[in-house]
Amino acid sequence: MTAAVSNVGEARVVPGRECGSCTLCCKVYNVVELGKAAGKWCSHCKPGRGCTIHDNLPRECAAFNCLWKTMPALSVQWKPDQSKMVLTLHPETNNIQVVVDPGQPSAWTRQPYHGQLRALSKNNMPKGRLVVVFVNDLGRLILPDQDVQLGVLTREQVVSVTQEAGPSGAVYEIKIFNRRTTADGQTLEIASASRHPARSAA
Ligand code: SF4
Ligand code: SF4
Repeated sequence: MTAAVSNVGEARVVPGRECGSCTLCCKVYNVVELGKAAGKWCSHCKPGRGCTIHDNLPRECAAFNCLWKTMPALSVQWKPDQSKMVLTLHPETNNIQVVVDPGQPSAWTRQPYHGQLRALSKNNMPKGRLVVVFVNDLGRLILPDQDVQLGVLTREQVVSVTQEAGPSGAVYEIKIFNRRTTADGQTLEIASASRHPARSAA
């Protein structure tokens, strides 16, 4: 699965943010220990009710809390069983990953969600944190003023955005890198680059 699960279990759960009837993370992510594929319900999940192997959870599941549980700024509308999206922080890039229920692939385009994703982008881009929406393996970068299709993104790929002044105004330069592990560590090799004029003062 492209959208990696962050170990956000280390983050503190906001008091009162219980999973309750939500089970969406048991659908959208893969679980390596179980050989479970992303986008399909786990065989141990009773959708809307919970996990049937609670006393014997895979480590990945036991450590997991989505961002709705740990980020106070996300309102109750963002509870995944309502929004049909699960948010996490990518473990390496710290980007905000929005994984959409493949049964409701346009969920991210609805309001108030789309406007709030743009606002998240605007607030987080200056800190170097991007907002990337995944529908299955297809990534889409949410910028403060536009959405950019990235195509299929793999877990080994890294997205970067810089903003430059162009002759007709500001331009985003989006680069996708392949991460390669070598004897000396990790290297990044550019896979693609594209330029997108800013549409408003972002
Ligand atoms: S997506 Fe979040 S709220 Fe829903 S079951 Fe998973 S951790 Fe709980
Ligand atoms: S083992 Fe339980 S918690 Fe983990 S994905 Fe399956 S149903 Fe969800």
